[in-house]
Amino acid sequence: MSFPKIRIVMVETSHPGNIGAAARAMKNMRLDSLYLVNPHRFPDPEATARSSGAEDILEKATICASLPEALAGCQLAYGASARAQRTIPWPQLDARRCAEQIAGEGDETEVALVFGREHSGLSNEELESCNYLVHIPCNPDYSSLNVAAAIQVISYELHMARLGEWQPKVPKREEPLASADELAGLMSHLEQVMLDTGFLDPDNPRQLMRRLRRLFLRAQLEKTELNILRGILTSVDKLG
Ligand code: SAH
Repeated sequence: MSFPKIRIVMVETSHPGNIGAAARAMKNMRLDSLYLVNPHRFPDPEATARSSGAEDILEKATICASLPEALAGCQLAYGASARAQRTIPWPQLDARRCAEQIAGEGDETEVALVFGREHSGLSNEELESCNYLVHIPCNPDYSSLNVAAAIQVISYELHMARLGEWQPKVPKREEPLASADELAGLMSHLEQVMLDTGFLDPDNPRQLMRRLRRLFLRAQLEKTELNILRGILTSVDKLG
């Protein structure tokens, strides 16, 4: 069965025990790709102890200096959040719908599930580099799970979706999607062109870049569509 490649990304985890527990949860659910963005302590004996036999996942974990680095090469990113409301509402799914949606992608798609810091979660900027927010529905008065527990729940839903418990409702893709790094390239090119044309006022940028980022993430640009937009921007560059 074709299923996308999945990476679990943990951002600035404080407790190495949580990294170990996450590796264990992943291995239980047949996931093996772990990315760690600036972990406070890693490698660490506490991570190894809590992984109870999933050290192989810790050993091949990829350490990154930033979230964009951890998202490089991914076409879809889901930011796991204990809270729902944002300043600009971002498309949001529950864990099950998220797994169903991922199961609808083919094996050429690379997907990141991004988990935040124990104390402060993910920043708005980090969440806004994801296509969707994913929330595990729970007690609204006590909605924050331990980060490894959140990884366990989402990995379980992914495993169930992979086992074919749900029929994917999303049609398979014909064209590959643009990756996060390609989108980052488009955003900085667009920003430069809008500064040059005067459309973007650096003294009063408002929410322009965030709104455009949300638009492109919602659209899930295909590579060819992104290249068309880059081509249009280059044609504007040439006018100047
Ligand atoms: N105090 C933080 C919560 C951090 S919990 C806050 O208010 O944001 C650590 C991480 O676990 C979160 O960043 C998120 O990625 C994940 N997580 C915890 N509870 C979750 C939930 N109910 N749904 C989805 N992810 C959750």
